Amino acid sequence: MNITRIETYPLYAPLTQPYGDANGYKNYRTSFMFRIITESGLEGWGEVVDWLPTLDKGFRERIIPFLLGRDATNHLKLVNTIKKWNQRIAAGVSMALTEILARKAQLSVCDLWGGSYRNAVPIYASFQSYSPSDEWIKSSVQLVQEVMAEGYNKIKVKIGGKTEKEDLQHLRALFDVTEDTVGMAIDGNESYDLSTTFQWIKILESSHPILWFEEPMPMNQINDYQLLRMKSTIPIAGGENKKSVKEVLPLLQQGALDILQPDPMHLGGIEEYRHSLQLARTFGIKVSPHSFDGILSRLYAIFAQACLVPWSKMNEEDIEPIEWDVMENPFNRLIPLQPSAGKVRVPTGIGIGVSIDVELLQKYSWKGEIYH
Ligand code: MG
Repeated sequence: MNITRIETYPLYAPLTQPYGDANGYKNYRTSFMFRIITESGLEGWGEVVDWLPTLDKGFRERIIPFLLGRDATNHLKLVNTIKKWNQRIAAGVSMALTEILARKAQLSVCDLWGGSYRNAVPIYASFQSYSPSDEWIKSSVQLVQEVMAEGYNKIKVKIGGKTEKEDLQHLRALFDVTEDTVGMAIDGNESYDLSTTFQWIKILESSHPILWFEEPMPMNQINDYQLLRMKSTIPIAGGENKKSVKEVLPLLQQGALDILQPDPMHLGGIEEYRHSLQLARTFGIKVSPHSFDGILSRLYAIFAQACLVPWSKMNEEDIEPIEWDVMENPFNRLIPLQPSAGKVRVPTGIGIGVSIDVELLQKYSWKGEIYH
């Protein structure tokens, strides 16, 4: 099981129209895919999303020399070492080594993890609501309507990047076009203080079926989250940027959240990610993964959600939804998963059960150009 080759595929795709959230606009999408191959020909894919020049240099000068010749079955040890250097790369390597082990065992990832509770998982359509156009509200409403026509019944939209008046105008326009059967999550991207958050809660409580209010305040203000959660009838969600279970723990211990949103790319390894899901369950908390930035990592979120014990007495078939990027993102096609009626089927083949579109990797290959 010695690792003999590692291929890297840095990907870059400029967007036809910028879009964004309270943190600013995106002009491009990037991804760094890589394939780890063992001497017996077993292979596994990994993914990291970060600044490509740094990843490229990091892989060439440190990660590849470190991994070559090592035994791929030493998953935890290898990932823990890399985690000391770079959290996100460790998460990507962890995906690749998981796939290699599943292939070695001739099992699907879910079977390797003890079996799946369900053969499909629900998803929600995740929007980046802002664009530089004066007509951004109109564009946002149009995008939401297109996605509803495709059968999505859960969506997430952004606030916090415009004035409260404009954001409210946007939400009201959305409430006008969405039926009561469409649940809406609102993401504030840590933009507000406690009093403004309460003002939003008052508006949202009387408006529409709200799935959750996501990260309205900076996530390090745990006391404010405790106060908010005590008074809000809308579930409070967050945690996408937590880098370890150790960072997640205080949120759970101090009752800051109703829904934990870990990201498989941020937690330094797929095992640590799964640990965070289990820990949430131990505290009786729901889990709806954050998975906007990666395609392979989203697939691992699907596997983990398929294998997750139901929350309380929830029907085994039902499980909390996974984030599905519905914005322009050419990398979505790297993995052939087709959502239907707000759900996505869990691949059951050996390893990750799907093939990465290698032609697409060539098409979007980053040529070293500078991007901002
Ligand atoms: Mg968010």
